[in-house]
Amino acid sequence: MKTEVLSVREIPVREIAEKAAAVLSSGGLSAFPTETVYGLGGNGLSGDSAEKIYAAKGRPSDNPLILHIGYKKQLRPLVKKIPGKAKKLMKTFWPGPLTIIFEKSDIVPDRTSGGLPTVAVRMPSHPVAKAILRAVPFPVAAPSANLSGRPSTTKASHVIEDLGGRVEQIIDGGDVPIGVESTIIDLSGPEPVLLRYGYITLGEIEDVIGPVTVDPAIRAENIVSHAVSVEHPKAPGMKYRHYAPKMPLFIVSGQEDDIISAIRRKASKKAGILTFDEHMDRFPEGFKVSLGSIENPEEAAHRLFDSLRQFDSLPVDIIYAEDMSAHDIGGAIMNRLLKAAGGNLIRADKL
Ligand code: AMP
Ligand code: MG
Repeated sequence: MKTEVLSVREIPVREIAEKAAAVLSSGGLSAFPTETVYGLGGNGLSGDSAEKIYAAKGRPSDNPLILHIGYKKQLRPLVKKIPGKAKKLMKTFWPGPLTIIFEKSDIVPDRTSGGLPTVAVRMPSHPVAKAILRAVPFPVAAPSANLSGRPSTTKASHVIEDLGGRVEQIIDGGDVPIGVESTIIDLSGPEPVLLRYGYITLGEIEDVIGPVTVDPAIRAENIVSHAVSVEHPKAPGMKYRHYAPKMPLFIVSGQEDDIISAIRRKASKKAGILTFDEHMDRFPEGFKVSLGSIENPEEAAHRLFDSLRQFDSLPVDIIYAEDMSAHDIGGAIMNRLLKAAGGNLIRADKL
């Protein structure tokens, strides 16, 4: 299939939105930027479009798709009810990087929801995503625009690399602003449950709706210990190996100086090192990729997936990554890094 690539640097957003709407309305797939990562869009009310998305990504079809809307009023027909806590969260965080899970209505196809009785919905704030979503009369199912198992895409070049030739259209809207996927909260049951860490933190959500339980499957200690709960997460996507670069990745934890000495001791010329600007000079050997300043976790979030992809084009046979703070956005970064490492977290003195 020939993939049409349209850039917002050359074509006005309004025109891009019309062209994307034409592809989506005729049952095709269009990948576009959102504020979190690039999404691979298809008609969210069409089971056939959902199947095309699964096929293009190589994604298991029990892994449900998030529906994206351009107006809040599009939510009502998709769900059985809108709980009060959802209304509060929508008021505070929509449009933005928060996905909410509801009991689904009958118009959402089972193939879109992966056979679940629930549906995930989000309203993005990115101007290009918003224009596209407002140009079609249906919600758009849009999982991250990467091949299944690969790091999510934060630049159009990543999307072209993974999905070129597999989808009708890719919209190049430049680098995405955030770089990690949306936070997911499940409000379909009696208690709110956090299913995925993201840019909006647990604390920010609890400030609005009170206490939230965290799905044991996403707790760092359970990913590291390969606890049974990790095999049965409430968000089906969390059970698959994710974000993985092509070679083994180890995260090294401990005091900063111990981490650096341990990696220095182990790293040969063919090792990749995921580090920070302040530490670049401290590793004489290996291929170093920086996540930016250690003081700037937002920058690290922004660079994470691109950094993991960079290693794939370098002649490295192993990657060592420095552990990073597990608070706020650091928690979302660590969660992705742990998944990329398949839970390989090693104390500096054990390396
Ligand atoms: P992605 O589309 O790549 O951002 O992944 C979407 C994530 O949302 C996956 O981890 C899915 O398993 C999760 N998800 C989507 N819909 C639901 C749902 N109805 N219930 C639980 N998790 C969901
Ligand atoms: Mg994904």
